[in-house]
Formats: sequence, structure tokens, C-alpha cells
Amino acid sequence: MRTVRRSVEAPADLGTAVVGVAEGSPLELDLRLESVMEGVLVSGTARGTSTGECVRCLDPLERELVVDLQELYTYPGRAPEDDPDGTQDDLHELDGDHLDVEPVLRDAVVLALPFQPVCSPDCPGLCADCGVRLADAGPGHQHDSVDPRWAALQALASDRGQEED
Ligand SMILES: [Zn+2]
Ligand SMILES: [Zn+2]
Repeated sequence: MRTVRRSVEAPADLGTAVVGVAEGSPLELDLRLESVMEGVLVSGTARGTSTGECVRCLDPLERELVVDLQELYTYPGRAPEDDPDGTQDDLHELDGDHLDVEPVLRDAVVLALPFQPVCSPDCPGLCADCGVRLADAGPGHQHDSVDPRWAALQALASDRGQEED
């Protein structure tokens, strides 16, 4: 068994549209390479920093990201018995001594990232009227100004209220 520890630069487009690992930011790979019958079993972790923005309040987010990797890289022409033709989409072949970890890393990172990242689970988002962060503005934040058409009705309503008094 061989252990590989390497710091690499993150490739482009590692993540989703809303959150991901910035291209060129450091990724720490900590991998174990094990010889097995069909090829080399690679397992370990990748550690990096994911960045994005909260889908509710658009605040920038930065989180440590640790993903587990495990993949069997087969020798060319020596696919596992349940797939003798090597037609499985997720099959990775060894190219000489070269292990292409990137597709495996990409899949693992995308799976590990939140589908809708938020700065905190109870982020109240932005005020629909003025766009201020409701978390900053406080629970009392509201606007008295209403649509002028409704304002006219409100005026009528309050007139009636006074009459009834
Ligand atoms: Zn937020
Ligand atoms: Zn507001």
C-alpha cells in the first residue's frame, strides 16, 4: 500500500453554479493506493475551501470542505467480472502509471456541496421591499409604505373606523 499526500490547485468548475471550490485554490489530497486484483484501489480524502453565496441573503460563504474519495482504477482490459466489456460509465482505467483523480474528485465534491447553500439554517433572507438583510435589520423591520392603490382603501377603512367611534 502506498500513501500519497499532495497539495494541488483546484481545477476549473469544481462545484455547482452557486457554490464550489475556486479554481487555483489549494486542495490537500490524502490518498491511499492499494494494489488489488483488478487494478489499484484509491481511497482517502480531499480537503479544500468551498466558496459561494447564501441563496437567501446573498452573503458570501466560505466553508471548509472535506470529501471522501474511493475509486477502483482498473488495469486496461481487466475490468471486474461483472463488467467484462468495461462498459460501465463510472469505470476508471489506469493509463500506465497515471491516475486521473480529477473526475472522481469532481463527483465527490459536487455530492458534498449543499444544493442550496445558506449562511445559517434560519437565515431570514432579504427584505422584499428594500433588499436589506433581515438578519441585520432585526425582527421589527417592516415598511409602512404600501402600494398607493391599497393606501387609498386603507384611508377609507380608517375613515369608517372613526365614524363608528
Ligand atoms: Zn443568508
Ligand atoms: Zn425593508
